Amino acid sequence: MKKSPIYDRIDAALSKRYAAHQLRSIPAMRQRDTIDVSSNSYLSLHTNETVATTARILSGERFHGNLASRLVAEESPLFTELEKEIASWKRTESALLFNSGYAANVGIIQALCTRDTEVFCDRLNHASIYDGIALSGCRLNRYRHNDMDDLVSRLSVSRSKEKLIITDTVFSMDGDRAALSAICEIAERYGCMVMVDEAHATGIFGAHGSGLTEEDAVEDAIDIRMGTLSKAVAGLGGYVAGSEQFRNYFVNFCRSLIYSTALPHTVLAHNLAAIRYIRSNPGLGKMVLEKAEMFRKRLHHHSLSTLNSSTQIIPCIVHDAAAALSLATFLREQGITAPAIRPPTVPEGTARLRISIHAGLTEDQCEAIAGHIVRWKALYHDS
Ligand code: PMP
Repeated sequence: MKKSPIYDRIDAALSKRYAAHQLRSIPAMRQRDTIDVSSNSYLSLHTNETVATTARILSGERFHGNLASRLVAEESPLFTELEKEIASWKRTESALLFNSGYAANVGIIQALCTRDTEVFCDRLNHASIYDGIALSGCRLNRYRHNDMDDLVSRLSVSRSKEKLIITDTVFSMDGDRAALSAICEIAERYGCMVMVDEAHATGIFGAHGSGLTEEDAVEDAIDIRMGTLSKAVAGLGGYVAGSEQFRNYFVNFCRSLIYSTALPHTVLAHNLAAIRYIRSNPGLGKMVLEKAEMFRKRLHHHSLSTLNSSTQIIPCIVHDAAAALSLATFLREQGITAPAIRPPTVPEGTARLRISIHAGLTEDQCEAIAGHIVRWKALYHDS
């Protein structure tokens, strides 16, 4: 039987990744007593007893899932409760849930954009934004990361009638923040719609933890705010918060919502319990940010670059992929879990360790992690 050439292409792609130290794999199960700075559970709510108890009460006796799309099956009343909670938290007219942040971005952008739309997209935006853009068939115009002059120069020569600026508010691999006030001002000048992805800012920024749009007081200037419940909320699901008209439109046109089975009841219960916990404990995000600032200072003291990180996400730049793997392995041997992030996830020459500072980390643990990184640098990098 003749073998399909697709097999050869797959072999070649994997071999190339392997040779460049870029082969991805799913890590083996972690030991229980390791210090984990790899997860996005920034507020450590996945181990919070109050959240777990509230979630158990909210979910009652029901454990099964929705068992069909929300548009088809009779749904859990927690969908409405959770959407109302998110809308009130984000101070928008309404909110709509998706199965994940990925599904939200792909669904929203595909529904919103057509071939007549030009999307101005920060180069470092999340992959799900790019996938939504590709599916929609719209025109993609990538501006240099956080470079407002570049954004303006691209907008000023654009002839497109429909223009949309999309940006992450906190960038997932660099840990820096978007210049939201400047983006809103530029959007108004050029008649653009603005969509932001608050995945890594939700629960961390703003007096009520609702995100960077709250912190920077630009909530009213942004048309669409999406985010995920899989990071500080420590659950699962994505959301979009905005006008009732948008909600209506997305219910009718988002394929990732219409054609996929909805989240299970127990997950909704956790999400709701966790958001209520965040809202009734203001200041959790600030505490994490202060811890992160101290950690960054420790690395800077030893001439380690953290790029422009100013959030709980700290990239420790080691440049090449092999060095990033070596550092991650060295830390694992010391009982610390932190991922090596390599191209193509990040640009060539910027391979790094991605450290997520979270509420559960003690002062001593932060010091131990920084100490081991510095020791690795002296042993393997500087020599
Ligand atoms: N947006 C950003 C900025 C993200 O970092 C992620 C997750 N890595 C997503 C969207 C997707 O969210 P989820 O994991 O809930 O699918």
